[in-house]
Amino acid sequence: MQKINLKSNTLEELESVIISFGEKKYRAVQLFHVIHKQNIDTIKDIAVLPKILRNELAQKYFIGSLRVEKRFDSQLDGTKKYLFRLHDDHLIESVLMKYKHGYSACLSTQVGCRMGCLFCASTKGGLVRDLTAGEIADQVYQMQKDSSVRISNIVLMGSGEPLENYENVIKFLSIIHNEHGQNMGYRHITLSTVGIPDKIRQLADEALQITLSISLHAPDDELRKQIVPVARKYSIQSILDACKYYLEKTHRRITFEYALIQNLNDAEEQARQFAGLLKGLLCHVNLIPMNSIKESNLRPTSQKQVQKFHDVLESKGINVTIRRELGGDINAACGQLRRDYYKDS
Ligand code: SAH
Repeated sequence: MQKINLKSNTLEELESVIISFGEKKYRAVQLFHVIHKQNIDTIKDIAVLPKILRNELAQKYFIGSLRVEKRFDSQLDGTKKYLFRLHDDHLIESVLMKYKHGYSACLSTQVGCRMGCLFCASTKGGLVRDLTAGEIADQVYQMQKDSSVRISNIVLMGSGEPLENYENVIKFLSIIHNEHGQNMGYRHITLSTVGIPDKIRQLADEALQITLSISLHAPDDELRKQIVPVARKYSIQSILDACKYYLEKTHRRITFEYALIQNLNDAEEQARQFAGLLKGLLCHVNLIPMNSIKESNLRPTSQKQVQKFHDVLESKGINVTIRRELGGDINAACGQLRRDYYKDS
């Protein structure tokens, strides 16, 4: 019989497990605390639980952890990029970033990705599999442990499309928010998506206070189809309608990400068009000078042109920032680390 990983269970699920053994509910809180706050990963070591219960649990369950395969430390700004090995030997990446206000973690939600975005390295080998809730959460725990820091912000912007792994991501959010574990406020969590309208609506109905970030990257559907292939299925308008619904339900300002690619989506006329789309919407635009990746000939927009694009948006009353690049010396762009590592080993 294959054992089940307790780290992926929400507190409510742990309560069902505990009750199935004829124990009181408060034992589930103790178990949750031990797994998600104290990082104990051997059931037999959970001293707070009765020995009989530990033995019974250990027959059906285990507590799975990621292994730090490699760590890359930036000499420029303290950013650390982690390569983790999963129990089935797949590799994922996560990034730990230091800001004035604390530490922020960029987490992966899938091994690989099937969205196929033109400039993204994570998608080049396709989707391998979804990550479990425990595997997403453990990226936080392992980075905190290895670097002896407390992570105060999370962005789901690593490899994978979080809304394609919806259930596990929702479970992860419940786990990381729970007061008996990391107790992280939803307002400190950002979910970045390529924009899947029905899933955005579903997320809105969960009424969580997380920040939704949409990877738009183009001001019209024709161009977007070239850059983000999933745009063949969902029009920009249908995404914006779903965003309005998200706003109504959560009152949370939405972020739009726009990676600037030389001579493709970076003209001032395109900035004007983009500003037109967002008119009247409570939002923020994050301009990302594209990271070059080996797998494509696309080039980043020059700093000067990035600034021009920024200024057009600003002149139209759009709230806009240019993303500061962190970890430039260890970067190898989004998802590249894992691919390089596979090739070398
Ligand atoms: N699938 C989700 C989350 C992962 S990607 C999404 O699409 O949002 C996180 C962000 O990084 C997205 O905006 C994505 O388009 C961007 N990104 C990926 N590769 C990039 C690159 N080489 N340069 C700049 N941005 C990139």
